Amino acid sequence: LIQLYLPLNILGTVYRELRQSLIDMEQMFKLLGLTVEVPDRPGAPPLLVERGELVFDHVDFGYDPRRPILKDVSFRIAPGHTVAVVGPSGAGKSTLSRLLFRFYDVDAGHIRIDGQDIREVQQVSLRAALGIVPQDTVLFNDTIYYNIAYGRPSASREEVEAAARLARIHDFVVTLPDGYQTKVGERGLKLSGGEKQRVAIARTILKGPAILLFDEATSALDTGTEKEIQKSLAEVSANRTTLVIAHRLSTVVHADEILVLQEGRIVERGRHEALLAQGGIYATMWARQQAQARKPAPAGEPEAAP
Ligand code: ADP
Ligand code: MG
Repeated sequence: LIQLYLPLNILGTVYRELRQSLIDMEQMFKLLGLTVEVPDRPGAPPLLVERGELVFDHVDFGYDPRRPILKDVSFRIAPGHTVAVVGPSGAGKSTLSRLLFRFYDVDAGHIRIDGQDIREVQQVSLRAALGIVPQDTVLFNDTIYYNIAYGRPSASREEVEAAARLARIHDFVVTLPDGYQTKVGERGLKLSGGEKQRVAIARTILKGPAILLFDEATSALDTGTEKEIQKSLAEVSANRTTLVIAHRLSTVVHADEILVLQEGRIVERGRHEALLAQGGIYATMWARQQAQARKPAPAGEPEAAP
């Protein structure tokens, strides 16, 4: 029993940690050959994505029933539009993406994609429709080419390079002696945070998901890198339904709607200008970040926005 229990226990821990960080969940499922914790309903049909409308409809959720995390969260992202979520650390922002991936089921309410409750469809098809650029990208210990092509293994070389161009990583890759065949990770080239993120963006562009999730990095990227990543993201999210979890308010200025999440509740919502005019929490956060941006950034600041 102990022999059986131990590995399962370790797998469980690994699973939980990966699920927590949303790091490369596709690889995780393959590697561990794990079945999902939230099972498919028997005979569940595949998700049919037509326009890519995403709806959170009165969603309540807690990891522990005694401690509610999300409270009556409702929003709609029209097909091709972008909604940004801002708010203090611990507000429940990343929980939104965990629910969308169905690592957990909502306690009340519904999450719907093109009118289909995500609990009613095959999870494989759900996850195929979603692309995520996570907070901390973990790359495979393999070539840059492999790491990008992973987004769609059937892609041609031209398609892989086109995705890399859109993600603004191609020009860097071709300066390397081994180009796309350069090994990254433990036994190869160590990429900077910004470079890793661009590889992840290229992978996501190649995957071409109907719905894109972007959990913005909290680690301080230098301004130049940040600008480049913003441009790459603009490319990938154009005409694609996008949910951005934003730490830097500079990302959200152009969002179709901004949600301010506090202790699991949407406390303010609207477009950037309207929220500024309202003079509430968002306006205060904005003013604080503007002031911070004028100061030289302290190294290793864990999170830009509280
Ligand atoms: P944010 O992304 O806004 O910083 P999260 O959505 O990650 O916040 O977390 C919201 C709250 O849920 C936090 O208080 C966090 O401690 C809690 N939480 C996150 N993951 C788990 C988990 N697996 N089990 C229990 N509580 C969790
Ligand atoms: Mg988070």
